[in-house]
Amino acid sequence: MDADIIVIGASPAGLMAARNASEKGAEVLLLEKKTEIGNPPHPANSFFKGMFDRCGEVADPSYVVHYLKGMKIISPSGREIVVETPGYAIDKSKFDRFYAAKTKKAGVELRSGTECLGLQKSGEYFLIRTSDGEFSSKLVIISDGINSKMAASLGLKPVKYPQDIAWGIEMDVRAKGLGKPEFFEYYVGNHAPGWKTTYAPRGGDSAAVGAYVRRCGRDANPYLDAWVKRFKALKGIDELEVVAKRYGGDPIVTIPNEFIANGVMVVGGAAGQSGLGYAMRAGQICGDVAAGAVQAGDVSKGALSVYRKLWEKEYKTEHALGRIALETLRKMSDNEIDEMAKLFEKEDLSFIHGSAFEQALQVFMFILKKKPSALLKCRAFLRNK
Ligand SMILES: Cc1cc2nc3c(=O)[nH]c(=O)nc-3n(C[C@H](O)[C@H](O)[C@H](O)COP(=O)(O)OP(=O)(O)OC[C@H]3O[C@@H](n4cnc5c(N)ncnc54)[C@H](O)[C@@H]3O)c2cc1C
Repeated sequence: MDADIIVIGASPAGLMAARNASEKGAEVLLLEKKTEIGNPPHPANSFFKGMFDRCGEVADPSYVVHYLKGMKIISPSGREIVVETPGYAIDKSKFDRFYAAKTKKAGVELRSGTECLGLQKSGEYFLIRTSDGEFSSKLVIISDGINSKMAASLGLKPVKYPQDIAWGIEMDVRAKGLGKPEFFEYYVGNHAPGWKTTYAPRGGDSAAVGAYVRRCGRDANPYLDAWVKRFKALKGIDELEVVAKRYGGDPIVTIPNEFIANGVMVVGGAAGQSGLGYAMRAGQICGDVAAGAVQAGDVSKGALSVYRKLWEKEYKTEHALGRIALETLRKMSDNEIDEMAKLFEKEDLSFIHGSAFEQALQVFMFILKKKPSALLKCRAFLRNK
């Protein structure tokens, strides 16, 4: 046996799973197909403190390129909902390397340039065929991202609604003073079916713009092109220099499904756990449970389901409410979105806090008090669209 636990894919979730398992005494081997961690990075340009705090990490200045004061959610006609919440624009390559270094420091053997080609059960062990030879372990953690092949190769369906992956493009751009604002801007409406377009200031002259759509195929380019045109007009920019473009899928509302089997755990984008903070926290839970299972000598599905139980306790409601909200948004007309935004425009929303369920309840009560009839707009969720 080459290690107690083999982790496939140095995703943010995989790095955390490997690190936690190692810190809890397991011998961990982490296999990553990229020859250099963070090159190229999987896209992600920002995160907010509230989401990140939950994984117990503190944003490190070594990868933060710009500090944000919050976000604006902007409706089709330009109504702004302002949410004050600290956030960070990040250099994702540096972020990946920062956590890879921490993971190695915790005792994990990280082999980059090693692509897993297949998994096979042999008695009590998994044999993992890679570009660099064969490895074996009793427990495998799959964290090979949104395009995961490893989980499917074992017959698992780790996400419930794969058709709802948001396919997106993140584009680094430059124009004078473009990176200076301190609020991340999300634009919602039918110009980006199912999700959003974005403007993420990154300090100085740098920013990222993006388009993310659901159920419109994998190519978000036409939506990005239209967005860039509108964005330039909105911000009064003549020349926008394009520095880089990154593509990918975000499993934001796909909902984790079958992410445990005998000797197998799936984590991160591969299991529908989207967003850096969420994926990293899921990785921590997964790593802790994996180490415990190895130490107890029981890596059966039953023993590993503690991971599912703990994850569900923290995140199930949030993911379910998130899906309902984004599905409602996908089905609403621009007029309906505008009317809803009107209720929250210029409101102090600092009263919203607590668990996802409590927050949903506070928003519900707010609408009920301000304009109960607006709740009827939420019937859009029931539309067959
Ligand atoms: C365009 C875009 C923008 C986004 N922006 C944000 C954002 O601003 N903030 C945020 O929080 N989230 C953002 N997200 C979501 C975020 O990127 C992901 O939720 C997060 O990175 C988790 O990624 P992942 O688990 O899918 O794995 P990945 O980060 O994709 O990692 C998977 C790893 O597995 C490796 N791998 C794959 N197959 C194999 C194999 N066979 N053998 C060995 N290694 C393998 C890959 O090389 C990779 O390193 C964005 C997503 C997209 C697509």
